[in-house]
Amino acid sequence: MSWSNWAGNQAASPSSLVTPRDVDELAAAVKAAAEGGHRVKAIGSGHSFTSIGVTDGMQVDLSAMAQLVSADQRTQLVTVQAGMPLRLVNRALAQVGLALSNLGDIDVQTVAGALSTGTHGTGARIGGLSTQIRAMELVLADGSVVHTSADERPELFSAARVGLGALGVLATVTLQAEDAFALQAQEQPMALPEVLAALDDLVGTNEHFEFYWFPHTTRTLTKRNNRLPADVASSPLNRGRALLEDEVLSNGLFALTCRLGRAWPALIPGINNVAAQLMGARDYSDASHRVLVSRRRVRFVEMEYAVPVAAVGEALAGIERVIVKQDLRVSFPVEVRFAAADDIPLSTASGRDTAYLAVHMFRGQPYERYFRAVESVMNALDGRPHWGKLHYLEADTLRQRYPRFDEFRAVRNAVDPDGCFSNDYLERVLG
Ligand SMILES: Cc1cc2nc3c(=O)[nH]c(=O)nc-3n(C[C@H](O)[C@H](O)[C@H](O)COP(=O)(O)OP(=O)(O)OC[C@H]3O[C@@H](n4cnc5c(N)ncnc54)[C@H](O)[C@@H]3O)c2cc1C
Repeated sequence: MSWSNWAGNQAASPSSLVTPRDVDELAAAVKAAAEGGHRVKAIGSGHSFTSIGVTDGMQVDLSAMAQLVSADQRTQLVTVQAGMPLRLVNRALAQVGLALSNLGDIDVQTVAGALSTGTHGTGARIGGLSTQIRAMELVLADGSVVHTSADERPELFSAARVGLGALGVLATVTLQAEDAFALQAQEQPMALPEVLAALDDLVGTNEHFEFYWFPHTTRTLTKRNNRLPADVASSPLNRGRALLEDEVLSNGLFALTCRLGRAWPALIPGINNVAAQLMGARDYSDASHRVLVSRRRVRFVEMEYAVPVAAVGEALAGIERVIVKQDLRVSFPVEVRFAAADDIPLSTASGRDTAYLAVHMFRGQPYERYFRAVESVMNALDGRPHWGKLHYLEADTLRQRYPRFDEFRAVRNAVDPDGCFSNDYLERVLG
């Protein structure tokens, strides 16, 4: 039996695979594996770049536990089975007039996978997806099924919101949704110095602000998404334009230019210049999930670091220095996003307002020299790596980056003393 992730840089040969249909089957499978001395690893859509989901033990596929359980119109609390892909959550919520407050770039991750690695979108006043969790049903290593919330087993609840798959298998999750809303999207090219000079304003006055810097140029594409008043009709992109810009240019042509750049790296700076100019301004509005989410067909590997917001300029300057000093050719834009501080022990935004800087490399191109050098820039800025994206840090360093690291470890020792849910990655990052 073999498994590999979306990026194709991680593979596993689990000793067995189970696909439980309900929490009782899930609990029985975990109990039997643990009693037989096997490790257990639930897997989502395999969209993590790190080996966080790799196992040689029992792999738990939750694709048969992927239904909406309930959506309460009054409280706007929504309970879903943990294997449900975000795409289906968005669709189910839209049908009942609800929506999630924020989303990442894509919607193909499972709810459990996205929450377990601290998946986030952008917005200085909005936390990552895990800040929306209100309750969880979790299968522990002894096969027991526990309910956790701020009132029930609060320490476990607090840690398991970004649990790295280390505490148990999530069976259901209750999320706080809100009334469905539309976003006005404004995409606008801007020069990097202009963006940095106006950053506080751009970040502070837009509900969702992010920008992409094109390496080897001073060009960026900025994206501002703001809530459309409920009484204003939205004006989505017409199908032809969406197809041209989001499929033909952002995926088809981009794939082609990445291949060209991989074969002839000297072409990359010129390609980036042209690509940045092709990214024209556009303005449209649509349902929030359609604005926030994109299709990513071009495969790549990625590293993403969370740093204090004030460090964005220094972090970008550091990345540029790395590219110049190492004479690298980088086709992928560097993505810069923001999130509000939260109270989750292992969230990358734990206790501090955060900026995220993500670097990518097209699949098949060497990336390690680039990523390691970027990591040393981020180390100097007290950076915290995304748990699902490539990094080279180990537990001793991570403990210094996360003031509540030992709180998480104490919960883990209490619920999984024998390391039933562990793997090489968790041993490296948690010790
Ligand atoms: C193209 C692309 C775009 C991305 N965009 C963003 C983005 O915008 N923002 C962002 O923050 N991240 C982003 N990511 C990273 C992605 O959101 C995370 O890696 C996420 O964990 C992937 O979800 P998954 O369902 O594929 O989980 P997997 O990668 O399959 O698993 C991740 C972890 O979750 C655990 N897990 C899965 N199911 C369960 C369960 N039921 N119980 C307990 N643990 C479980 C696994 O054991 C593993 O530890 C992106 C990744 C890709 C490839």
